[in-house]
Amino acid sequence: MFEQYHRPFDRSKWNMSGYEVNASYNPSTNDITFPAAILQRPFYDLKQTVSQNYGGIGSVIAHEISHAFDNNGANFDELGNMKNWWTQRDYKSFQSLTQKMIDQFDGISYMGRKVNGALVVNENIADVGGLACALEVAKSEPNFNCKVFFVNWALNWRIKSTKQINEMLLSVDVHSPAPLRCNIIAQDMDDLYKAFDIKKTDGMWLDKTQRLNIW
Ligand SMILES: [Zn+2]
Repeated sequence: MFEQYHRPFDRSKWNMSGYEVNASYNPSTNDITFPAAILQRPFYDLKQTVSQNYGGIGSVIAHEISHAFDNNGANFDELGNMKNWWTQRDYKSFQSLTQKMIDQFDGISYMGRKVNGALVVNENIADVGGLACALEVAKSEPNFNCKVFFVNWALNWRIKSTKQINEMLLSVDVHSPAPLRCNIIAQDMDDLYKAFDIKKTDGMWLDKTQRLNIW
């Protein structure tokens, strides 16, 4: 990395290794990276249905693209230069929605501690935008099954971790804890309520006025 200092930027370099189950967006190159290892179940499989694949890798791809328009990526232009390309009116409205996103997660109890809404806001913006986009495209498929789509979205977030790791992640990780990413972001989608027949008295119910969608 030191050798690259003051050299022309090498856009052919991969952001991570092929064996990692992960994905990323880089604002200073405006590119997305998907290592080979994430292209397997539950994210993607030829034998999975279209609804499963959209709830899986579809939502991840859309998440990474949405990072280009989160509160961080929004400061970079299409070439990866830090530049303000917003109209004043749009940016103001975006900032107010960003604050709502902070408020939606801030202070939620998790494993005896509380979520820091400001720390996780850019990932939540990418999650809500990504899931909404994947859902919109998936709905145009002839045999779309909304329930299957959301079940596979949930499978993306299965995790096993110790109490200590959870506590450490809560204080430094820019991602919300996986179960919260799974449930709260899904609660922001109107289609969830229809697919699972969720009523006001159910635990997953979130009032329509509190559901968030930035894009
Ligand atoms: Zn992300």
